[in-house]
Amino acid sequence: MGTMAFDAIETPFAKTDKIIGGSATYVAYAASNFVQPVQQISIVGNDFPLEELQALEQRGVKTEGVEIIPDKKSFFWSGRYHLDMNSRDTLVTDLNVLADFNPNVPESYQGCEFLMLGNLVPAIQQKIITQFKERPKLIVMDTMNFWIETAWEDLKKVITMVDVLLVNDSEARQITGEYSLVKAAKKILTMGPKFLIVKKGEHGALLFHADNVFVAPAMPLDEVFDPTGAGDTFAGGFIGHLAKTKDISFENMKTAIIVGSAMASFCVEKFGPQRLKEITKEDIAARIQEFVQLVNFDIALV
Ligand code: AMP
Repeated sequence: MGTMAFDAIETPFAKTDKIIGGSATYVAYAASNFVQPVQQISIVGNDFPLEELQALEQRGVKTEGVEIIPDKKSFFWSGRYHLDMNSRDTLVTDLNVLADFNPNVPESYQGCEFLMLGNLVPAIQQKIITQFKERPKLIVMDTMNFWIETAWEDLKKVITMVDVLLVNDSEARQITGEYSLVKAAKKILTMGPKFLIVKKGEHGALLFHADNVFVAPAMPLDEVFDPTGAGDTFAGGFIGHLAKTKDISFENMKTAIIVGSAMASFCVEKFGPQRLKEITKEDIAARIQEFVQLVNFDIALV
């Protein structure tokens, strides 16, 4: 679950008008490569193209839980990236339909084992968890600065209810007030989640669990065209791999963050989810192999 949205994006090199985006859109495009059905929960307005929902359905994404509000507009976000393409400013966040989203988990979604709470209003993330009659086996949650700043009390509560928190480095610092990511991780691991993933854009991602740390690189790319959705795509690849293998051990999460990183490396190659629509299973397998080569080394100690 998460947003399905329109985004307007500016990078130092290019600009788009409204294109399709939203956290749940990216998660679904990524996860559906590994596991089907993906059962989507979101809300859109009358302006959201039905073809976009149909395109997702063709990839094994169920849209019964996507509410369409006839007289309102979809969530709209606009952002501008800095030269490093790692940091950005939000220019506009128009909640629109999201303002009074009161989700109802469809009966057919009950029994879900892997729940991805994409970036969304924390109170709604909480409501969705509690609507499952049986707690999913693994709950992964993403959030962002907007909710840390505007809904901290609600956010703190949901964090206590999840297994894996997924944030970027600046959000980990913002949540804890710690600059050191290791100290920040230690604090977050006392707040509820047993696992923490810190995404560091072009510098990869860190996975923390108890006293263990694992580091995954990001793919060194000639050009990052548009980083929007990379975090959500990472999340979709991560939970997609876990759901496919049904193994939630730390060891398997290491593989899952490599899979997430590989998926994110495709996402940034074009504007919006475009590249995710094009890639094949062979492209994904080849990219994962490139990651293996990237970090594979032998050391002869002398
Ligand atoms: P990411 O680049 O992975 O952080 O995600 C970008 C996507 O998140 C965009 O497609 C936006 O539509 C969506 N988004 C931006 N702000 C928010 C927000 N406050 N809540 C939920 N989704 C958002």
